[in-house]
Amino acid sequence: MPSRKVRVRFAPSPTGGLHLGGMRTVLFNYLFARQNGGDFILRIEDTDQARFVEGAEQYIIDCLNWCGLNPDEGPHVGGPFAPYRQSERKENYRKYAEQLVKQGNAYYAFDTTEELENKRKEIPNFQYGHAHRMEMRNSLSLSDDEVQSLLSQNVPHVIRIKVPEDETIAFTDMIRGAVSFDTNLVDDKVLLKADGMPTYHLAVVVDDYLMQISHAFRGEEWLPSAPVHLLLWEYLGWKAVMPEWVHLPLILKPDGNGKLSKRDGDRLGFPVFAMDWKDPKSGEITKGFKELGFLPEAFVNMLALLGWNDGTEQEIFTIAELIEKFSIERVSKAGAKFDFEKAKWFNQEWIKRKPVSELEPFVADILKQKGVEVESSFLQKAIALVKERLVYVNDFWQQASFFFVSPEQYDLGSVKPKWNDQKTEFFHLMGEVFKSTASWEAIDIELLFKSQAETSGLKVGELMLPFRIMLVGGKFGPHVFDIAHLLGRQETVSRIERGLNAIAE
Ligand code: GLU
Repeated sequence: MPSRKVRVRFAPSPTGGLHLGGMRTVLFNYLFARQNGGDFILRIEDTDQARFVEGAEQYIIDCLNWCGLNPDEGPHVGGPFAPYRQSERKENYRKYAEQLVKQGNAYYAFDTTEELENKRKEIPNFQYGHAHRMEMRNSLSLSDDEVQSLLSQNVPHVIRIKVPEDETIAFTDMIRGAVSFDTNLVDDKVLLKADGMPTYHLAVVVDDYLMQISHAFRGEEWLPSAPVHLLLWEYLGWKAVMPEWVHLPLILKPDGNGKLSKRDGDRLGFPVFAMDWKDPKSGEITKGFKELGFLPEAFVNMLALLGWNDGTEQEIFTIAELIEKFSIERVSKAGAKFDFEKAKWFNQEWIKRKPVSELEPFVADILKQKGVEVESSFLQKAIALVKERLVYVNDFWQQASFFFVSPEQYDLGSVKPKWNDQKTEFFHLMGEVFKSTASWEAIDIELLFKSQAETSGLKVGELMLPFRIMLVGGKFGPHVFDIAHLLGRQETVSRIERGLNAIAE
């Protein structure tokens, strides 16, 4: 058990749909916090106004809520370290940037966009760092008087970190172990922008400090930023309380070639966002797992296994089991390939495991959309009969609509060629027998059907498919006598008659 109070944060920028990788970061944060009796914080990193997207914050909150991974502190629930939106914490950052300038660890830079562009044209792979900083217009290259005069004229400027030369920055990542960087390869990142807003680099460090974050979980794509953050923790004098770093492996495309992107999802036909995301500008909707018909339990279970396992063959985990068993030590360093077929398998397994009564609300929603009203007891029986066949909850209508509306079309292709008068006669008789039989239990219907077939000198095997098609319309569905049982005597008889008419046409 870590000695500090565990406080972890998910710190998304509200820029659009929430990707699988982001949701997995949420999950690991949540599991770790719950396991250690800690706090899970949602912090909105919205300092980049150019990338701000309307509605994205609420969408993130909705995604967390759908998965049941709700934070203890956040912009929507408040908490002792409020506000939890960086745009509302603007005043906090400048003083630290100024402190760094005073200490000699940062400097003012007055270069215009044009000057920077020219420099980039002039020098291939230009980096604003120790090699070139003295060629630029900043408080290191200009005289004190010049700097003072520029500042007093309010000439737009940024504050950049002064990354030291020829040093190695090393730290231990809880997943990756020892990691080190050569400072000569790290550029002097902007800390405070001309509009007074901090960049991500400054804001993330200041807020992780002020919010007393003990462990920082984030995607591996942030690893290259780590040296800048480490320097900031050191220069600001906070190294002793720096969080433990936990850089999570990437989620890879199904073929393992690079990071999974939304475009891969579009290309290969699966979602990469937790929930449907509607781009407020273009109006374009990107499909999410929720709307496709994933159960949150399945989605969470699938995410947990992207890069983690408990060392056994177990694959199905409830959230309580995940809280108990999750360990950072068992998160793999290597990227995790996303396998949509496996994701579907998780969903199927969870649908099978979920009690009918818990599936009912999802299904009731679908029926409502179709304008179907039905008694709960009937609906529950229908769910029980088809749930083994559902990959998505939304498959319910396709798999079970015949329980609520009689088929409008019949798949007669495999029935008609082998049809004969004897079969017509059989079904007429069968209808009569069904009308007068005492029991309407599935097993009794089956026995009657079989004995009638024998009496008529027909093979049961040749009659089952036509019977199914009369009741259902096609070659699918659960056990045909279970279907007849649930449809009821009258409905079964009338479907036989309608079916016979369709065959005769
Ligand atoms: N704002 C960053 C993001 O959008 C957070 C990275 C971090 O957790 O440090 O992912």
